[in-house]
Amino acid sequence: MDQLLRAISEDGFVKLAVVSLRDAVEQARQIHMTLPVVTAAIGRTMAAASMLGSGTKEDGGSITVRINGGGQIGNIIAVADNMGNVRGYVQNPAVDMPLRQDGKLDVGAAVGTDGTLTVIRDLGFGEPVSGSVELVNGEIAQDLAQYLAESEQVPSACALGVLLDRDQSVLCAGGYIAQLMPGAPESTIGQLEENVRKAGAVTSWLRDGSVSDLVEQVLDGFNPKILESDPVAYKCDCSRERVMGALAGIDRNEIQKILEQDKKIEVKCRFCGKIYNFTSEDFIKE
Ligand SMILES: [Zn+2]
Repeated sequence: MDQLLRAISEDGFVKLAVVSLRDAVEQARQIHMTLPVVTAAIGRTMAAASMLGSGTKEDGGSITVRINGGGQIGNIIAVADNMGNVRGYVQNPAVDMPLRQDGKLDVGAAVGTDGTLTVIRDLGFGEPVSGSVELVNGEIAQDLAQYLAESEQVPSACALGVLLDRDQSVLCAGGYIAQLMPGAPESTIGQLEENVRKAGAVTSWLRDGSVSDLVEQVLDGFNPKILESDPVAYKCDCSRERVMGALAGIDRNEIQKILEQDKKIEVKCRFCGKIYNFTSEDFIKE
């Protein structure tokens, strides 16, 4: 089962979020029929959104992470609620790329580096707040760290990873974000950097299912306290009412034309693939 942990160092200077997201990313793969490099890209983006989302305390709040690096994948969008439940969408799921020389999926090449990572924070009331950064390398973890440093002034260490099986299904997925709070002493920064270096590839921890061991490693020497440990899942909040609300924004004549031609309007949710059908009766009722 997918799981999200939040922890803090005893001195309060290091905050850590860790997420294991295998099932959710596998679900995204099946919904969108993504090829491996795209599964990795959407999985990393979903992990990022899940961890950022779980950091927003407001009920009804959500976080959107949107990446467009000008590469073949096009737009990648992940939306998470304040519990870290997440859904994802990718513009071009069928991108194929040669592996990198080290045998890894070339996410950076598929995403591209000529574009931005944008985070939109919607607190559920008022105007959503958004911030953007230029992509660093399109591998997403470093781009996310850049966003947190530049846009939110929080120095962070981020690791995101997705590992696939031979049949292209997801073996493990997830990552962590370690953030330094204002006033953190130099020694803390040094220790955290050392811990992150020693932790190595995040997928090897996720694969073993040892999420709490990963917390111990990244916060080694900090006497960490686990603040929250919650199940998370792929979750879409679409509904007939919401889709109807979106249709209300479309020109009435346009709707009329489609109804006359097809006798119905079919809308497919881009996050979960669910299909909603509307007939002329649905519009008369208004
Ligand atoms: Zn949906």
